[in-house]
Amino acid sequence: MSLNLLGLSRQQFESWCAEHGEKPFRARQLMRWMHQSGVGDFGLMSDVSKGFREQLAACAVIAAPPVLRDTTAPDGTRKWLFDVGTGNAIEAVYIPEGDADDEEGGRRYRGTLCVSSQTGCALECSFCSTGRQGFNRNLTAAEIVGQLWHASRSLGSVLGMDRPVTNVVMMGMGEPLANFDNVVTAMQLMLDDHAYGISRRRLTLSTSGLVPALDRLRDACPVALAVSLHAPNDALRDQLVPINRKYPIRQLLDACLRYIEKAPRDFVTFEYVLLAGVNDSVEQARELVRTVSPVPCKINLIPFNPFPGSGYERPATTAIAAFRDVLQQAGLTTTVRKTRGDTIDAACGQLAGQVRDRTRRVQRRFEENRT
Ligand code: SAH
Ligand code: SF4
Repeated sequence: MSLNLLGLSRQQFESWCAEHGEKPFRARQLMRWMHQSGVGDFGLMSDVSKGFREQLAACAVIAAPPVLRDTTAPDGTRKWLFDVGTGNAIEAVYIPEGDADDEEGGRRYRGTLCVSSQTGCALECSFCSTGRQGFNRNLTAAEIVGQLWHASRSLGSVLGMDRPVTNVVMMGMGEPLANFDNVVTAMQLMLDDHAYGISRRRLTLSTSGLVPALDRLRDACPVALAVSLHAPNDALRDQLVPINRKYPIRQLLDACLRYIEKAPRDFVTFEYVLLAGVNDSVEQARELVRTVSPVPCKINLIPFNPFPGSGYERPATTAIAAFRDVLQQAGLTTTVRKTRGDTIDAACGQLAGQVRDRTRRVQRRFEENRT
């Protein structure tokens, strides 16, 4: 199988060039062609020698996973369904937000891409349909970056923008920290000035709480962090997020504090899926305030997105508002996610079997998780 250059970090690419008798600057040159100009054909790389171009064409490719479906909603939300082989598909979702508030207090264009890291997931959170389907496989670094590569070049031409993707969230299918090496390589490329040049503050990883991997991430590639908490105490979290039995809340919060020391942002976002009658009472909101108190944080409430046979329900709007009010009155910055792109969801419903189920879920989760 040919080497897919999309998945090589700058360091790996420089070593690869050295092995092929080329200077390290060639790697940077090729990276700019691929990632910034969106070029996938070696023949178009006009400032690269013909001999090296031929050598590249003989042993390497530049390829995102094939697109099975590409849909745009009236609100501009766009999603791509990618074929990753053996009947599995993954999805990336783009949400343009026009001019949004930036960290400096100004306003600038924001376009966020939600990226998948695995097909399926081994962690079996009880309310997550990916988790119920079990684990299929890790995506390669090229398949992860390929989602951004494809989105950037497709959007760039349509929107007439150099950098249509300003933010990336690792919130698609899978647990990114369970595919550590490939996710870190992919994120390094997202951050690299010779590739996508996305700032660490605009790249967010969401995890269910793999504590040792979180510590490794802090050193290997600190980016903005979202943690899926979903319960105010261990007894309940043990049921909803089974990885809690291995890494309970106290350990997870300590890891968050260690992470913040090196993180680009001085807070963690805690995600909390609201499940009717399970974790949505006012008393549980008060307990949540006490639980998260050691960690500088924001809270992202996600009303549950039902799927067939889940056994859970989304709480009533009044219950969601009451839960949010308790957190806000305690001084916690709290947001409730809204759904966008309903028309795409409907279109997605036309897809078959497993593919339909998984991709609709990714779409909804992303929409409700944006920070
Ligand atoms: N595996 C990672 C990232 C992907 S899931 C994680 O768990 O954090 C992104 C978010 O969607 C997580 O907070 C996850 O708990 C949430 N989620 C999963 N299933 C959901 C559902 N049915 N409704 C609403 N949110 C859900
Ligand atoms: Fe995996 Fe995240 Fe779903 Fe849990 S919520 S099963 S960690 S994808």
